[in-house]
Amino acid sequence: IIIAEDVHKWYGGFHVLRGVSLTVNRGEVLVLMGPSGSGKSTFIRTFNALETYQQGMIEVDGITLSHDLRNIEAIRKDVGMVFQQFNLFPHLTVLQNITLAPVWSGKFSKTKAQTVAMQLLERVGILEQANKYPGQLSGGQQQRVAIARALAMQPKIMLFDEPTSALDPEMVREVLDVMLTLAKDGMTMVVVTHEVGFAREVADLVVLMDDGLLVEAAKPNVFFNHPQEERTHQFLSQIL
Ligand code: ATP
Ligand code: MG
Repeated sequence: IIIAEDVHKWYGGFHVLRGVSLTVNRGEVLVLMGPSGSGKSTFIRTFNALETYQQGMIEVDGITLSHDLRNIEAIRKDVGMVFQQFNLFPHLTVLQNITLAPVWSGKFSKTKAQTVAMQLLERVGILEQANKYPGQLSGGQQQRVAIARALAMQPKIMLFDEPTSALDPEMVREVLDVMLTLAKDGMTMVVVTHEVGFAREVADLVVLMDDGLLVEAAKPNVFFNHPQEERTHQFLSQIL
């Protein structure tokens, strides 16, 4: 459902993606790890056209992401994204945050969007927060709203960029649990995270990125217990 082939990207003279290739099949969970600055965010942001690339090819759900972003609307509908910093609209309630895109895009009527939103809030375990503002919620609750908001567009793929890194430790679990359920329900997911427990439990493939290149891609058991590359050993010794 995602095919990246020899993708290159430059920020000015800086070669940030230096030829990355990757395939994610429908229903799979891919976990992307790597040191800060290795290009993880840049790479996954190309999957929903938040970033352009200059060379290579990316195809998402049969749509080729051309360098000039022609298919941008089609792609954004199919690909939901959750960020480290929640990015909720502070002046809108939880319910309004979730219904905004589906109503605005014409996907659902307002009533239908609200029904869907309430179902999603129940699914992420915060139905009782529907009429609060983001500032009145804990970080973990806000991130669950962000997940519900992304799901409201009924995407085929969900991208997560360090969704738990900004959370206090006691809130990490509640967000990972929601992601876990989502994965078990068959959602195709690409997750940038250093949560090893999550990766071991749900990843079909774990990938190490370093310096704009993919160093190693393996099943969790191999990746964490018997990595093939010296660089992976080194990286794991820092995070485990
Ligand atoms: P982190 O773990 O810190 O989030 P990352 O692996 O997600 O890191 P990226 O954010 O993709 O890394 O950044 C990769 C490199 O590209 C970094 O060196 C960063 O400074 C650089 N970079 C990112 N965005 C831009 C930009 N808009 N303009 C110029 N350079 C950028
Ligand atoms: Mg990043």
